[in-house]
Amino acid sequence: MVASAVLGFPRIGPNREIKKSVEAYWAHKITEEDLQKSAVAIRKERWESQKSAGADFIASGDFSFYDHVLDTVNALNIIPERYLQNGLSPLDVSFAMGRGRQEPEKGVDLQAMEMKKWFDSNYHFIVPEISGSTDFKLNFNKALDEFNEAKALGITTRPVVLGPITLLAFAKPARDAAPGYEPLQALSKLVPVYAELLSQLKAAGAEYVQIDEPVLVLDKAEALGAEFASTYEALSKVAPKIVLTTYFGRLGKSLDFVKSLPIAALHVDLSERGDPAQLDAVLAAVKPTNIILSLGLISGRNVWKADLTAALEVTKKAIAALSAERVIVATSSSLLHTPVTLASETRLTAQQSDWLSFALEKVSEVATLAHAASGSTDEKYATLLAANKASIKARREFEETSDSKVRDRVAAIKDADFNRKSAFPIRKAAQALKLKLPRFPTTTIGSFPQTKEIRVARNRLNKGELSVEDYEKAMEAEVEKVIRFQEKVDLDLLVHGEPERNDMVQYFGEMLNGFIFTQNGWVQSYGSRCVRPPIIVSDISRDGPMTVRWSAYAQSLTSKPVKGMLTGPVTILNWSFPRIDVTREVQCKQLALSLRDEVIDLEAAGIYAIQVDEPAIREGLPLRRVDWDSYLLWAVDSFRLSTSGVEDSTFVASHFCYSDFNDIFPSIQRLDADSISIEASKSDMKLLDVFQSHSYANGIGPGVFDIHSPRVPSVEEIKGRLLAYLERIPADLLDINPDCGLKTRGWTETEASLKNLVAAAKWARATYPATA
Ligand code: GLN
Ligand code: ZN
Repeated sequence: MVASAVLGFPRIGPNREIKKSVEAYWAHKITEEDLQKSAVAIRKERWESQKSAGADFIASGDFSFYDHVLDTVNALNIIPERYLQNGLSPLDVSFAMGRGRQEPEKGVDLQAMEMKKWFDSNYHFIVPEISGSTDFKLNFNKALDEFNEAKALGITTRPVVLGPITLLAFAKPARDAAPGYEPLQALSKLVPVYAELLSQLKAAGAEYVQIDEPVLVLDKAEALGAEFASTYEALSKVAPKIVLTTYFGRLGKSLDFVKSLPIAALHVDLSERGDPAQLDAVLAAVKPTNIILSLGLISGRNVWKADLTAALEVTKKAIAALSAERVIVATSSSLLHTPVTLASETRLTAQQSDWLSFALEKVSEVATLAHAASGSTDEKYATLLAANKASIKARREFEETSDSKVRDRVAAIKDADFNRKSAFPIRKAAQALKLKLPRFPTTTIGSFPQTKEIRVARNRLNKGELSVEDYEKAMEAEVEKVIRFQEKVDLDLLVHGEPERNDMVQYFGEMLNGFIFTQNGWVQSYGSRCVRPPIIVSDISRDGPMTVRWSAYAQSLTSKPVKGMLTGPVTILNWSFPRIDVTREVQCKQLALSLRDEVIDLEAAGIYAIQVDEPAIREGLPLRRVDWDSYLLWAVDSFRLSTSGVEDSTFVASHFCYSDFNDIFPSIQRLDADSISIEASKSDMKLLDVFQSHSYANGIGPGVFDIHSPRVPSVEEIKGRLLAYLERIPADLLDINPDCGLKTRGWTETEASLKNLVAAAKWARATYPATA
């Protein structure tokens, strides 16, 4: 018998119940007891629905109110002292670590801990802080509690624990750490606490435990063979049978030591976001051992129906090598990264929903695959398998009939299409004549405060309570307000303010062909924040101008230049669910061609400054360094393709919301934007040292204030930043702007901050006049 396993399930609830109750708790609308009650109900529903979908191994311990890394940090007492000084309850301590806490009347002012992206996903985790004085101990055992909770419901689960080496590998030195301290140095102190945690699971009757060590798919794990050997040697003595779990990539060289670990099973990711090609190496490595192989065949990262016939072939291959008893079929990773269920979608066509599979449907796919692989004669699963065959066939037929015009256009892209007409110095001179911007031009990143009125108008439009004309009139009024405001505070390069945009990716997706949208396809991004990524289902094209009317309207109101505002191809791709039948590169180029047409149309409409935002370019980097170049090649090419169709005199800007450029600097340079704006106000000058040491030669606007907080930077503070920037960047190349868009800010602080920004720019002009 081949068993089926689900590595984890979305926690937010089918209707985001957990998000809503967590937020209600934060707003003091419900008590902790109410919150816990809602969690008990959702956990029950998660287990029961997975059980009835037929999965053999269902996870427990994978629930979280905020983040499972944060939960682990709390359970193991890795709590920085500063969160423990206000007498908060353990739950509030945890929330304070995740999102900060401000209660001025009580003198509480705690900042959130750092948050980072989990591998190459859009899920964010809280970065543990560890030092030589971290006092590891077991505060609670979530996996055990949930295991017992499920057991009381009559459901046997397989507890999940985040592995000790991954935990430490993703930690950073705490504030009190000695210089040069590496969190992995704490491993020998941490392992006994894990031993205690795992032995409790064993005592409670858990047969297996899933220990997640996704660090194993990264290059850095290759140097950790000794740590893995000693840790798992110790843990295997006291733990239930260990399912060592990897995902999002390939084991690579680490397989050499992994195969010798004292584990009962190994899980590998064979989905398209993992590496199907690692199967042969993995089979060869585990064959001489007793290790059971868990095949991650049903993707935990996409929304597509799995091709079960193809998955069955892979499973059969593994069975032939190892025997059925040593094969498990599973989701590739936790299903946390997919929406809960397709059953909530009422607006997709029958054809569209037949292509898709969300978490709950994926559980059923895993079960169906297991039954098929076991040669089961169960009618139910035979029917499901046949239905899957029909769906996959229909999807393939649809793919064939997709838009050949778009494909031909991609095939016909020429080298010249990636290049601006002239090099930057020539363009700069032409742009100076056209735009007549002063030295140290001031600008913003695009959005202005998305006020309640704007959101209400959009809601009313969506509900049909406001006509399209009335909505557009309201947005035009908003654009006019933003233009007048910018004139008043005396900014130089204006924007229209983006009031008409719901989300920077969804907005474009809705206007392009090739995308579909869900009503309820929410996925947790961080804490209670969920996103609803658009789904790319076919070849992408543009019917006509998308943003021109807004930018042109804004430009008609003022004699100062207005900057057009687009989301770049790489960002649209990375923040959507892509297709899996064509490469990401092809999808990105298709997006780039549509945006290229838009850029050209903007120019034709008199918009001579255009910003193409690419905040997601870095997070799309493959996990293994050897794979970086090929990604960066097509990602940067796509940006260039979308922006090079214009005259030299048109100013092309780009924007990134991060400051981590060290590794990818040559690619940033290769974008060849006339100017880039980057988040810089929170980082030290190391970032700009990078630009200096590579003699970055195009324009650059390192942010002068943080837009995440309502705090108003003083003129002196901004001057201070400019001085530091000017030590590293030639004055002719420096633009002055905030870190990012202002959409989450209020008007009061926006006005005060921008006035100070302009005052600092005027000071710079007077202090650093052009030298002929
Ligand atoms: N132009 C966008 C804005 O200002 C950029 C958003 C982003 O970088 N995430 O909102
Ligand atoms: Zn940004």
